[in-house]
This record gives sequence, structure tokens and C-alpha cells, in this order.
Amino acid sequence: MGVKALKFGGSSVADGIQLGKIRDIIEAEPEGRYVVVSAPGKRFDGDSKITDLLLMCKAQADSNIPIEQLFQVIEDRYNAISMQLGIDVDLESEYKEILKNLNNGCSRDYIASRGEYLSARLIAEYLGYDFVDTCGLILFDNKGRLLSEETNSALSEELAKHDHAVLPGFYGSCKDSGEIKVFSRGGSDVSGALVARAVGADIYENWTDVSGLLMADPRVVKDPLPIGYISYLELRELSYMGASVLHEDAVFPVRQAGIPINIRNTNAPEDPGTIITTEGTYRDDRLLSGIAGKQPFTVISIYKNMMNKEVGFVRRTLAVLEDLGISFDHIPTGIDSLSVVIESSELEDKLDEVLTEFEQRLHPDEISVVSDIAMIAVVGAGLSKTIGAAAKITSALRDAGINIRMLNQGISEINVILGVDSPDFEPAIRAIYDAFTK
Ligand code: ADP
Ligand code: ASP
Ligand code: MG
Repeated sequence: MGVKALKFGGSSVADGIQLGKIRDIIEAEPEGRYVVVSAPGKRFDGDSKITDLLLMCKAQADSNIPIEQLFQVIEDRYNAISMQLGIDVDLESEYKEILKNLNNGCSRDYIASRGEYLSARLIAEYLGYDFVDTCGLILFDNKGRLLSEETNSALSEELAKHDHAVLPGFYGSCKDSGEIKVFSRGGSDVSGALVARAVGADIYENWTDVSGLLMADPRVVKDPLPIGYISYLELRELSYMGASVLHEDAVFPVRQAGIPINIRNTNAPEDPGTIITTEGTYRDDRLLSGIAGKQPFTVISIYKNMMNKEVGFVRRTLAVLEDLGISFDHIPTGIDSLSVVIESSELEDKLDEVLTEFEQRLHPDEISVVSDIAMIAVVGAGLSKTIGAAAKITSALRDAGINIRMLNQGISEINVILGVDSPDFEPAIRAIYDAFTK
């Protein structure tokens, strides 16, 4: 019998009804021996995710605001699930411990991780699987970077001892200090991929609330077409640029091991979902795989005559960003100008400092700043090979009366990146989607 690693996201573990669906899925798939779970997510619009509630507790505790009432909301959510399903786990002592640590100044990462911890404890009991904590198995260095190989050894050694296990997603621990460390938000997808690799899974099933990856965000385009197959690289481009269905870093571990990812819908398990696999392993004659985008970005443009002749200009520009700890997304260049495209959240209150450093170190003729730019990625393995693909995008936007602020065909040649003013973000995605699908 093969082995599958299954990851269930926040909406799939949000309440007792959802957990009942998980049990049905597992019963229908006996190979699903390793299960990674998120913290309970939203049950309905306007509901709160447990992770957000825990982080709110931490913010309140740091400001000396009493947290007991808010923490009770979290306890109530887990107790309701436990009662609904008749699960016999003593969570009271866990709550006490977490509350005590909150009041004693625990770290943000520790508290963020407790949603997954409690969730996995409950679900392990419900499914009759072993609970295996990822603390001490998913390992990070002192700078918070994942230690991929050491994680793989530790996880596979431990999981070899368990025929069936439920593991909490989202966190691991620092190898040296043993302190809890979380991935960025949505990181249970990465935990699932690490577990899939460690157990040599035949497939990594990622169960969520949509029937796979859609060609565009369903909140922007009405009923977008589903994607049956997509390559790891295309998926990574889309998820990095905002197709939030899968964390962009979830691709690396499984891609390395050649394990396909199957995105499935817990609420419609009969749907086949999306298979993400090595490029070229499926017949693909479509031009466009998907469109994603995010905002806001800030574009800083630097003008200087004869810039192209000044050796080291780009390096000095990027050194400013490096020294200030800012990462950038793109640097489109011309002969006398260069722009850096930076996610606005990276700049926060550092914009003035960046501009001063640019002035002092680069002596430009002029610098301009445009904020509120949205970046859109049009992704498809066939894009670069097809004459007229870029023209299709630009004419769709022209017909919709949208001005393109930046256009860049990625070197990976599977994407075209464009910048538009923020108010044009959603209309631009819809116009491009229509041009390729209608
Ligand atoms: P989970 O809690 O299961 O990890 P997420 O909320 O992280 O689920 O991801 C699923 C959501 O991603 C969907 O509900 C959908 O709103 C959103 N989404 C954004 N872009 C896309 C896309 N291109 N295809 C499918 N879903 C998308
Ligand atoms: N619970 C975490 C979050 O809300 C991690 C996850 O769900 O993947 O981001
Ligand atoms: Mg997610």
C-alpha cells in the first residue's frame, strides 16, 4: 500500500462538522497515514481564525490589558469541537499552561503556534492516530531559516516509529535554543510538504475550501476556470504573487523529491482538484495557466544621465536596500534610469531613509516615487513560446482603458509581470482573464 501525506487547512478543521468530513476522507483513503493540520479557521464570514485570536491575546498581554475574556473565546472553540465529537482529551491543563506563559511574556512565535498544537492534539485523538509534535523535528537556525536536510532526517526518523500520525502544521523549533519558531502565515502548507517528503509519500494532498487552483482569485473573477494540471514552477509564481491557496514555499521540499501535490476540496471530495507536478509530465497546450496579483507596491525610479556607463551603479543601489534590510521584487532598467519595485510593507517607515541614502550614495539627477502600484503576474508555460501573447495582454488592457505602468517578461519565461495603478488592479485581472478564456 502506498503512503499519502494529507494537510487540512483552517476551514477544514474549523468545527465538528468539518472534522467529520476529514474522518470520512481518511476512511476512504487508508494510505492517508500522515496528517498535518492547521488551527481552526473561519466558520463563516466575519468569524475569527484561532491564530488571529491568539496573536490578539499576545498584543493585549503586551499592553497589560487583561486577556482572560479573549482567551475564553479560544477555549470555547476547542471545547465545542471536543464536545460535538465526543473527544476525550484533557485540554484544561494545556489552556492553563498557555495562559500562564502569555502572562509571563512568552514569545510571539510560541503563542502563534498553539492553535495548531491544540488542533493536532484533538484531531489525533479523534482519528485514533498518534500525536507527533513538530517541535524538535522541524528545525530552524538562529536566524529563523529552515534547516531543510536536518528537518528531513529528524522527521523521517521519528515518523518511521509511527504507522499513523497527526502533526501540527505551521511551526517547529530552533535547533540550538529549542524555542518555538513559526513559518510565515499560511505555513502549515510547508509543514505538510516537509512531512510528505520525510515519509516518501506518493502524493501530498492539500485539502482546503476550493476544488483546486483556479485560473484567478475567485474573489476577483466570477467562477474562474479550474486548473487540472500545473507545474511546480508555475504554481510558485502564482502563489508568490498572491494566489494564496498554497504557501509559495510549500513547493520546494516536494519538488525536490518529485512528489506531486494535489489540491482538494474538503467540502467536495469527489472533485479531482489540481495536480501540481514536474513541468512537461502532462499534455498542456493552453497558453495561460493563471493570473495572480498583489498590492500595494512602491516604485522608486532613479534617473541619471549615462547611468549605463557607470560601473557598479546597480550594486550600489541594491546595497542601500540590503543595508536597510529591505527586499525588492523587480528592478526594471533603462539606459539613464532604473526603478526598484518594493512591496510597500517592506518600506514601512523607512522610505525617507532609503531616499536619503540613494541621494548620498548615487548622486542621481532625479528620483521619483510612485506608491499604490499593483503588480500582476500572468503565468503560463506557453507564454514565451507564443507570438502575440504579450500583445494579447496589452490590447486587453488598452480596450479596458487601463494604463500599464510597468511591463516585464520574466527571465523564467513562464510569466509576464505588469504594474498598474491600484484602482485598476481588479479590472486589469478581469480584462486579461477574459482575453485568454473567452
Ligand atoms: P486553507 O485555510 O485551507 O489553507 P486558504 O484560505 O489558505 O486555505 O486558501 C484557500 C483560499 O485561497 C480560497 O478560499 C480562495 O479564496 C483563495 N484563492 C486565492 N487565489 C486563488 C486561486 N487562484 N485559486 C483558488 N483559490 C484561490
Ligand atoms: N494557522 C496559521 C495561519 O493562520 C497557519 C496556517 O493556517 O497555515 O496562518
Ligand atoms: Mg492556507
